[in-house]
Amino acid sequence: MKITEHIKQAKGKTLFSFEIIPPQKGRNIQELYNNIDPLMEFKPPFIDVTTSREEYVYIDKEGLLDRKITRMRPGTVGICAAIKHKYNVDTVPHVLCGGFTKEETEYLLVDCHYLGIENVMALRGDAMKHEQYFKATKGGHSYASELVEQIQNLNSGKYLHDVINVEDKADFCIGVAGYPEKHLEAPSLQTDLKRLKQKVDAGADYVVTQMFFENKKYFDFVEAARKIGITVPILPGIKPIAVKRHLQLLPQVFKIDLPEELIKEVEKCKDNKEVRQVGIEYCIEQSKELLAAGVPVLHYYSMGKSDNIKAVAEGIF
Ligand code: FAD
Repeated sequence: MKITEHIKQAKGKTLFSFEIIPPQKGRNIQELYNNIDPLMEFKPPFIDVTTSREEYVYIDKEGLLDRKITRMRPGTVGICAAIKHKYNVDTVPHVLCGGFTKEETEYLLVDCHYLGIENVMALRGDAMKHEQYFKATKGGHSYASELVEQIQNLNSGKYLHDVINVEDKADFCIGVAGYPEKHLEAPSLQTDLKRLKQKVDAGADYVVTQMFFENKKYFDFVEAARKIGITVPILPGIKPIAVKRHLQLLPQVFKIDLPEELIKEVEKCKDNKEVRQVGIEYCIEQSKELLAAGVPVLHYYSMGKSDNIKAVAEGIF
């Protein structure tokens, strides 16, 4: 079922969902199931599965450095199909511009359609580690709005090059990313919001936000989005802090602010076990306020480990 239908059917009740990352190449999928199992009691109507961008790997060959491109965490669509089948839950593969030609994207979407996957998250992807800025893949898209357009074209039976008599049309519900503290490359929040509107005008059905730790930022973002005519559901994405290093890492990677009170509490912790507990308690309070505000979904970033998400969900649902 489509995410927008899940939200409609819930009739104002806040839903629980989460995002997982595929295991590293060569690792067992059972690890992933072990992390999903404890969260299923909270009845998520859908689970997101991220896609990793390819990375350059350097191989020393007889004194020469050889460059190879590899995807360290492949299998997004396969994992979506496996989870959908095992848990009878909707799954949302993340589809990226970076690293894919339009044809490859079309094949991926055709696979998703055959597998009964009805939702996709359309994203640009970040720059690769060796790049200063994001560079579009040859034959691929530069912005998520173009990817949304391609998916919408497919929804109306328009494939890239072929003139075909389409009997079995896809009908994907499309999610896109939103940034309450603006995207790191955007010159201002207002410009970034206009870009978000472009994605919605191109056919996006809902927005999932980047993680944030101050709810006011989310509330202000939703208000500003509504003011410029973005009417689709805006799902808050949240994450409990889990290790002390997150104090530097999260602001550095996602260009987000952490509130002083949270920083102080984390700094007081003797070890990461204590940090994990502080993260859980803070996230419960954050979630309670969002729940009271009637957000459609509380969407958690699990980054692989689910014990803290379970602890948060126990405090909320
Ligand atoms: P876009 O919407 O294309 O925006 C990128 C930048 O370009 C923004 O600064 C925007 O303001 C600007 N822009 C947009 N259109 C134009 C235009 N026409 N002209 C000029 N500027 C423009 N990354 C992954 O690699 N894998 C994942 O699975 C993944 N999942 C994510 C899930 C969520 C909920 C979120 C919030 C992010 C996720 N990301 C993921 C990260 C995401 O790929 C990066 O944040 C990326 O840098 C931007 O992606 P986007 O889809 O927001 O890009």
